Amino acid sequence: MLKDQQYLRIPGPTPVPPSVQRAMAQPMVGHRASETAELIRRIRPGLKKVFGTEQDVMIFAGSGTSGLEAAVVNTVGEGDEVIVAVTGAFGRRFVKILDAYGVTVHEIETEWGQSVSPEEIRGALRKNPETKAVFATFCETSTGVLNPVAELAQAVRDESDALFIVDGVSCIGGVESKMDEWGIDILVTGSQKAMMLPGGLMFAACSDRAWKVIEENTRRGFYLDFTKYRDNLKKDSTPFTPATSLLYGLEQAIRLIEEEGFGEVISRHELMKDMTRAAFKALGIPLLANDEDASPTVTAVRPDGFDAAKLRKVLKEEFNLIVAGGQEHLKDAIFRIGHMGYASPGDVLQTLAMIEIGIRKAGQEIELGKGVAAAQQIYLGKGDPQ
Ligand SMILES: *Cc1c(COP(=O)(O)O)cnc(C)c1O
Repeated sequence: MLKDQQYLRIPGPTPVPPSVQRAMAQPMVGHRASETAELIRRIRPGLKKVFGTEQDVMIFAGSGTSGLEAAVVNTVGEGDEVIVAVTGAFGRRFVKILDAYGVTVHEIETEWGQSVSPEEIRGALRKNPETKAVFATFCETSTGVLNPVAELAQAVRDESDALFIVDGVSCIGGVESKMDEWGIDILVTGSQKAMMLPGGLMFAACSDRAWKVIEENTRRGFYLDFTKYRDNLKKDSTPFTPATSLLYGLEQAIRLIEEEGFGEVISRHELMKDMTRAAFKALGIPLLANDEDASPTVTAVRPDGFDAAKLRKVLKEEFNLIVAGGQEHLKDAIFRIGHMGYASPGDVLQTLAMIEIGIRKAGQEIELGKGVAAAQQIYLGKGDPQ
């Protein structure tokens, strides 16, 4: 086996394009030098486009979770009431952060593998009229579910004046996002999933409604205080030292998205989802989420004829193909394939072919090539898009 070759197909961190890697190798510049300001100025428009907003998208040195914590600390505090849609491990993370700040949380918990519905949000808001904010996860990475955030936003607007706050960490950059049009008040994401970068950057944007709440909040913390980032961004700057190398990488990642066309990027992710799902259906291996809820960026498979942990072990040993296991109670019950960012339909075919061998070696007698052929049919537009 080639020792330096790895197929990284987990739902983040994801592979980094060679041109992005090269961009990150540039020599360091001063963080207050004109080079940095010019770099930030060049990056700003591209970020707005992937978010679908006219608002400035702020840039932070931090992992995705810093975005979740920032959304909390800037908007609510001890004693405030909020609603959290918990559709898996990342919805749960919002609850843990809110707990740490003493916020009163009303949870809407769905079964893992299912999305939260606008009706559930409406019901929870009627029951809890003091709610200041509703938190939801766009792509619930732990289950491969894409929550219907446009409809959820509408439900929040119809029923209340609460802010609608969305964790977009594992999908922004790979799926359609219309933050302004849909009515999302705060949208956050990280760099290492669909944005084709290493971990280390967090991005966040706020609606005018959110900015009003944030300005009135007197306890916004320090490092993650949104107003500091907003005010500095107006001068193409950041309040603290930026992760400059990652910003060079980000500029190139945005360039790649623009060269391909963001619409094309979105359809590529849809296609990779359809190919992946068609393969497991053809093999008769159950998927965790249904077609309607399935995310274009990650697919969770729930095998009933072999052990998911065994499969992952085989794939690593045979091919150095890395797929993810499940989280919490689904740990060894599912495996998850990331197909986002720097991933192509060709990568999906290759991944599926390796997985078929892995399934055989893990002990289920499948017909080799059946899943790959179904994915090929989808690619050729002949299969039923799932
Ligand atoms: C990965 C992920 C996070 C956390 O990101 P870190 O960079 O590990 O802090 C948060 N939310 C979702 C939906 C994610 O997929």
